Amino acid sequence: MKTYAYGFPRLGRNREYKKVIESYWDNPLANGAEHELTGGIDKLEGAILATYEKYVDKFPVGEMTLYDNMLDTALMLGLYKCETLREYYNLCNGKNALELTKWFNTNYHYLVPQFSSSSAPKFNVVWNKPKEALEKHKRGIPYLIGPFTFLKLSKGITRFGDCLPALADAYIELIKDFSEVHLDEPAFVMELSREEIKLIKEVYGRIGTQGCDINLFTYYDSVDFIEELYELPVKAIGLDFVNGEENLTNIKKYGFPEDKTLVAGIVNGRNVWRTNIENAVGNLRELSRYAKNLAISNASPLYHLPVTIESETLEGKLWNKLSFAEERLYELKLIAQAYKGNVEGVAEWNREIPDFGVSKQVKERVQNLKEEDFSRSVSYPERVTRQKERLNLPLLPTSTIGSFPQTAEIRKKRVDFRAGRISQKEYGTFIREKISDVIKLQEEIGLDVLVHGEFERTDMVEFFAQKLDGMATTKNGWICSYGTRGYRPPIIYGDISRPNPLSINEIAFAQSLTKKPIKGMLTGPVTMIAWSFVRDDIPVSEVAYQIALCLQDEIRDYEANSIKVIQIDEPAFRERTPIKRRDWEEYFDWATKSFRLASSRAKPETQIQTHMCYSEFGEIIDQIVRMDFDVITIEASRSRGDIIQHFEKVKFDRQIGLGVWDIHSPVIPNTEDMKKVVNRALKVFPQENFWINPDCGLKTRKWEEVLPSLRNLVALARELRGKALT
Ligand code: GLN
Ligand code: ZN
Repeated sequence: MKTYAYGFPRLGRNREYKKVIESYWDNPLANGAEHELTGGIDKLEGAILATYEKYVDKFPVGEMTLYDNMLDTALMLGLYKCETLREYYNLCNGKNALELTKWFNTNYHYLVPQFSSSSAPKFNVVWNKPKEALEKHKRGIPYLIGPFTFLKLSKGITRFGDCLPALADAYIELIKDFSEVHLDEPAFVMELSREEIKLIKEVYGRIGTQGCDINLFTYYDSVDFIEELYELPVKAIGLDFVNGEENLTNIKKYGFPEDKTLVAGIVNGRNVWRTNIENAVGNLRELSRYAKNLAISNASPLYHLPVTIESETLEGKLWNKLSFAEERLYELKLIAQAYKGNVEGVAEWNREIPDFGVSKQVKERVQNLKEEDFSRSVSYPERVTRQKERLNLPLLPTSTIGSFPQTAEIRKKRVDFRAGRISQKEYGTFIREKISDVIKLQEEIGLDVLVHGEFERTDMVEFFAQKLDGMATTKNGWICSYGTRGYRPPIIYGDISRPNPLSINEIAFAQSLTKKPIKGMLTGPVTMIAWSFVRDDIPVSEVAYQIALCLQDEIRDYEANSIKVIQIDEPAFRERTPIKRRDWEEYFDWATKSFRLASSRAKPETQIQTHMCYSEFGEIIDQIVRMDFDVITIEASRSRGDIIQHFEKVKFDRQIGLGVWDIHSPVIPNTEDMKKVVNRALKVFPQENFWINPDCGLKTRKWEEVLPSLRNLVALARELRGKALT
């Protein structure tokens, strides 16, 4: 039984990836800066390949990127010209930045390649083949994103058919020097049209017959066109048996071709619970009845997991249930050995652990929920009148999404506090000072609805996880969300409850400083779940309602502290959507209900906002409407407001703020740039429903970018208001 692993996290055990690249950004012109960057990345890549080598038989080489693999593929194919590192990073987060969108139903964001015209593009293959690494790691296989996935996730192509012949030629060029390649084709699990499947057959019909063996990997869900998949001239097919249950049903029905290897993805690449080795072996024995040639792998790329549990100091009973990326490789090894009859290490790995984190009270509260617990007492038209009266905001109100720059000073204070070098009191005073400063500043700039700045939060999910029972947080469990950015997903292991208020201290303090409304800032149930590792012993809807009830209690406390506007962030609402439409209704049912449950007890005159970003929202606007918020803010500036067109088609009577400032870029937007998005939007939304705000939170930006940008934003609103009045 051969083992095959892929997608190992690139961040490094101690986030070396971030350090190496960001120190280059800080000083790209310094002597030797480029050399240091490439040297650092090579070293990191070497360590990852060595880890693969330690545990598994086969693995890809060339997965490492300086920012994003989709961009790299676009560059290899000559879609963009880029000769220097500075030009490269310009495409990532500089002047020419590509749009950023979530990768399938994950929280990894990729850069969206944009084809300039719909006519057949010319590809110009330039690939820095990882020659040295391949020399050094004989069991390594050259890695590429497959042609179909690349095309499917790019923008600007209206007719695939026009592109594919040229694209096939380009891939033939790419693979021609190799005897074997690894191609990732996660887009194969989408619900594809007959036409698309035909194109897949055409492309693979060409690239698969060039004498280079193709190991083709699908993941995140099952493949619907299994019979045709079998006909492709590839050597091995990777299928996800963790998140693609139908793959098993299909194999039982259609068998598996004898001339190919089935690479069974059986250890979870997206969640942290240890694999039960005995069960896995049982499943493999069953699969072996249908597939003559069988190998095993992770079920999806491992970069959705932190690097290793080794350095974590979680409680033993939890620690002993967990498995991160490196441990997944170990599990593959254990499974392969156990399959052959050697069960050494298995009992130790899957120890019996008594139940913990159970709350009868929480369970009962969810069980007793009734239909009316999921809706607000008064409908939107009446709410909006009361809210407008109470808030008395100008036309085109301005606001921000919540966070303000998390400076080195703030991060240092937090580290000092955690390490016990400064007291709780001192830290609290420091945070209050920051809140006071940011309130004064927002008043001075002239924003209408203010925020407290989220200085006390490392991360919008982790912050709440640390205060809720039933969730644990890690010390070093970073995973990559885009480029060099990482976050530490908490682990939901038990029933969730709110032992104490979560954020009243900071929010109430902020409100005490100003007459303008402060937005209370909460993270919604879907996002709490999407950006955590979730227990799998109860339905996810139940976890969502447990969180929603905590938020309901928090909102009651907000109202008692004179908070009139509350934002429940749901940036992961789209991302959590299942890949296949046939699974949508089940998801949207609990996703929208959990939002409504959280907000249902808010008074009619309390304005409930939500915020979403970095996803394709076009198709789900109908679902978003079911959340019954009063205001939504959505990121829109990288796609220059493309989302607007989708609102033309639905009945949308709520207030909306489309982002006018791309906050992933250090570029300061001028009034004219922002005006373009607003003008486009005002053709679709009545001006009395429109808000002006940045794309997302400002925590990753620098103050010197934030101040002029916000001044421009307010100036724009004032200019437009002046016009609207005349
Ligand atoms: N309120 C959060 C912030 O401003 C929202 C972040 C997000 O959408 N990812 O940082
Ligand atoms: Zn956002």
